Amino acid sequence: KRVIPIGPPGSGKGTQSPIIKDEYCLCHLATGDMLRAAVSAKTPLGVKGKRGNGQAMKKPSCQKGFILDGFPRTVVQAEKLDEMLAYQGIKVDKVLNFAIDDAVLEERITGRWIHPSSGRTYHSKFAPPKIPGVDDVTGEPLIQRKDDTTAVLKSRLEAFHRQTQPVIDYYAQKGVVKTISAEKPPQEVTSEVQKALS
Ligand code: ADP
Ligand code: ADP
Repeated sequence: KRVIPIGPPGSGKGTQSPIIKDEYCLCHLATGDMLRAAVSAKTPLGVKGKRGNGQAMKKPSCQKGFILDGFPRTVVQAEKLDEMLAYQGIKVDKVLNFAIDDAVLEERITGRWIHPSSGRTYHSKFAPPKIPGVDDVTGEPLIQRKDDTTAVLKSRLEAFHRQTQPVIDYYAQKGVVKTISAEKPPQEVTSEVQKALS
């Protein structure tokens, strides 16, 4: 299966992706993380993202499929991705549209805590770790992303509606979009996702 979750920041893509990944033995490519690394290494944005993905998708661990979290973000990127996949004789099987009201996202984003090396995500209110600021599994410290603020969320949301929402229409025309009610509690979102992929 080749799956792309699309939704605004805070809609739960990063929370659900590892679950889908494990269940279907897919490789999980989180481009937000790759691109943030590229920004801090001062590599030109996008370039590294695209190359990174192209290379990563050829890994043996991606043969069963992949879940691509954070890419494509524009219709042009979606066209490029589809071109690249067509070249390998494959295509995107399912686009999960994480539908959620913007008003819900601020609380989600400002309460988000992340375990950087695993990508595990917690929330101070909705999914608190056993010990505040500490990863349940490794005991390592959790971090908050610098851009997880109300002000930055506003511009990330604008960019999402302007550039990324059209990607959903693009894939809807290809008949591969399933809409997920991303406002529900995490387990209910998981079962909707499982239904969409079954
Ligand atoms: P995204 O990857 O789409 O930006 P995340 O998966 O990181 O979103 O989720 C954002 C925050 O909201 C995290 O702190 C996460 O723990 C929390 N969260 C995720 N899914 C839900 C949900 N269904 N209900 C409540 N909180 C959630
Ligand atoms: P996420 O919320 O998915 O983890 P962000 O929205 O924080 O990722 O993205 C990290 C940075 O990389 C932002 O500055 C964003 O604008 C940029 N970025 C992410 N994906 C892409 C992409 N596919 N093309 C161009 N820029 C991107």
